[in-house]
Amino acid sequence: MTIEAFQKQIEDIYYTRDAERGVPLTFTWFVEEVGELAKEIRKQPQDIARLREEFADVFAWLATLASLLGISLEDAAKIYAEGCPKCSGTPCRC
Ligand SMILES: [Zn+2]
Repeated sequence: MTIEAFQKQIEDIYYTRDAERGVPLTFTWFVEEVGELAKEIRKQPQDIARLREEFADVFAWLATLASLLGISLEDAAKIYAEGCPKCSGTPCRC
């Protein structure tokens, strides 16, 4: 699945509800999910399946926020296609 296809899938599932909620409140949900990822990262021993789910949730909330703000994540990712956006290095030499 491409980043574009993922963003479209999240739009198909959640866009209407997320649009009704609006950007400010949706952003707080996103931050809450980042917090859940943080908790999962700190857990010992790590549960890879749960970590994977939290990464999926954070990615989904990021995608929905991008959609609400008219941003294509696929286009955004292209900023890194040629290496570090500042020094163009891969790896970064900044
Ligand atoms: Zn750099």
